[in-house]
Amino acid sequence: MKLFKDIKKGAAEASEKAKLMIEINKFKIQISQNQKEIDEEFRKIGETVFELFKEGNTEELPEGIIESCNACLSKQEKNKELELEIRKLKNEKNCPKCGNTVKLDVKYCPSCGNKLEVIEEENNLESQEKPSEITVKCNKCQTENEENAKFCCNCGESIDK
Ligand SMILES: [Zn+2]
Ligand SMILES: [Zn+2]
Repeated sequence: MKLFKDIKKGAAEASEKAKLMIEINKFKIQISQNQKEIDEEFRKIGETVFELFKEGNTEELPEGIIESCNACLSKQEKNKELELEIRKLKNEKNCPKCGNTVKLDVKYCPSCGNKLEVIEEENNLESQEKPSEITVKCNKCQTENEENAKFCCNCGESIDK
C-alpha cells in the first residue's frame, strides 16, 4: 500500500507542478505583453524627441540624445540613397509631385504632367523594351504612352481618349 500511496503522491506533485507552470506562463505572457507596450511607448518618445531635434530644439536635449538623433538622421538619409539605388537598378524614378513611379528616361509624369529630371542611365537594356501593353499615341509627338497615361511621357501634352 505504501507504494501505491507514493505513486499517488507523485502524480499529485506532478499535476501541482503542471499547474504551477501554467500559472508562471500566464505571468510570463503578461510580462512580455507589457514589455511590448513599453517598447511601443519608448518608440513614440523617441519619435517625439527626434521631431524636436529636427525642428532645431536641441538646447534642452541631453548630449547622448543629440548623438542618437544624428545617427537616426544619417541612417535615414542613407536609406533614401539606397532606395534611389534600387530605383536606378530597376530603371525607375519617382515623380516628386505625385509620387508616381516611372521609367528613368520619362520626361513628363504620365499621371500629373509634371516635368521630370531625366536621370542618365548606366544600364539601359530594360528601357529599350517596347511597352507590351495597350498603348495610346500622343497627338503632338506620336510617342507611344501607357494605356492609363494622362500626359505624354515625352512632351507632357495631355492625352485625350
Ligand atoms: Zn506626377
Ligand atoms: Zn507627346
